[in-house]
Amino acid sequence: MLTNAPKGTKDIMPKDVYKWQYVEKKFREICNNYGFKEVRTPVFEHTELFTRGVGDTTDIVEKQMYTFKDYAQRSITLKPEGTSPVVRAFVEHKTYAEVQPTKMFYIIPCFRYEKPQSGRLREFHQLGIETFGTGNMLADAEIIGLASDFLSELGIKDVELHINSIGCPECRKKHREALREFLLPKYDQLCDACKGRFDKNPMRILDCKSPVCQKLVQGAPMMLDYLCDDCRNAFEELQANLTAMGVDFVVDPGIVRGLDYYTKTAFEFVSNNIGAQGTVCGGGRYDNLIEEIGGPAIPGVGFGLGIERLLLVMEANGVEIPEPDGASAFIAFMGERGRNYALKLTRELRDMGIKTEMDVLARNLKGQLKYADRIGAKYAVVIGDNELDEGVVILKDMANSTQESVKIENIKNVLIEKKGR
Ligand code: ATP
Ligand code: MG
Repeated sequence: MLTNAPKGTKDIMPKDVYKWQYVEKKFREICNNYGFKEVRTPVFEHTELFTRGVGDTTDIVEKQMYTFKDYAQRSITLKPEGTSPVVRAFVEHKTYAEVQPTKMFYIIPCFRYEKPQSGRLREFHQLGIETFGTGNMLADAEIIGLASDFLSELGIKDVELHINSIGCPECRKKHREALREFLLPKYDQLCDACKGRFDKNPMRILDCKSPVCQKLVQGAPMMLDYLCDDCRNAFEELQANLTAMGVDFVVDPGIVRGLDYYTKTAFEFVSNNIGAQGTVCGGGRYDNLIEEIGGPAIPGVGFGLGIERLLLVMEANGVEIPEPDGASAFIAFMGERGRNYALKLTRELRDMGIKTEMDVLARNLKGQLKYADRIGAKYAVVIGDNELDEGVVILKDMANSTQESVKIENIKNVLIEKKGR
């Protein structure tokens, strides 16, 4: 037990971490191009932020949160999602008083007590963005465009964008009644959670993962057919904006999303190649969330994108993530003076920005060169007492095993020159 990570968590080991760094770097770059700035919020928050924000009939709040009491008996919850904390920070720092909109992105771990399977973990990672301060569909189109650009920039071809409108509290009332009427004869067959949702929030039943409930909701009234004029116009505007941007989409009236705070726009990027957990990116508009958690009435829109699922999709698409280069220079030594000179030269080269390694196991020369080869060093510099007496070092090209003698005062320049090739 001591040597096993908790169920549903995964170490990201050095041999794989470059993939994560690659995806995160691309995301930072694209966010920067779109004018989104990074925000970092705590890993834990007051529990109430999520019960209020995410909604108490959602899977997350009903059964997935890592909640505990701290030593002062405060109820604390590890972030199950990224939006509520960013909203909390926006209100706390009165960022709404600055020029609007506020455009932020984040890269975070999320925690949900779920049944672990491919693409579903208890600790997973999300890339996300939020735009606060505008209800205009230009903002929805902008963030959807960002997600779409990001996915294609990563070389993903098989994802489809699905969009829907889940209306506003006004038009949802009529839908709620129609839905209740439709579900009433099937009430007894609903799962226990959905029986509770029937009164409180029947739309949640549409998103239930239980196969029985999924069957029961087939043919249920869809929100799209109940939109008020304002929500309908907004949805049409969004589609016009996406078309103008050249972003392909399909209207999918079945999208509900797993969090209660969404209004109007809801969207998902879905892959058909990674099994049941095909939703890589999910998001939408939340015009009441900021007010709901105690801020002013300011609308917002955003998305969350799971990094683990993204990497699965990239793999399924045959995307090759470039592995980082090995060291440019490996400094091998023999003898006491050789060692001292190697220590000095290694430091100087590193100082000059050349990726340089030295064997800290102090193996013999053969062992050092074997190690240099295994770590993918491009050049090895061999320094021995004899060479030092002659004022030279040996420069070995590891790729073709050729070697030459280089004057000691020239070695740095030679390596700088080679690095450029
Ligand atoms: P799902 O329907 O698959 O449970 P969700 O609606 O709960 O997803 P969101 O809360 O919108 O998902 O989270 C956004 C993204 O985070 C998802 O699209 C997915 O890529 C990722 N994600 C969500 N839950 C997990 C998890 N348990 N493990 C790994 N990734 C996850
Ligand atoms: Mg979920």
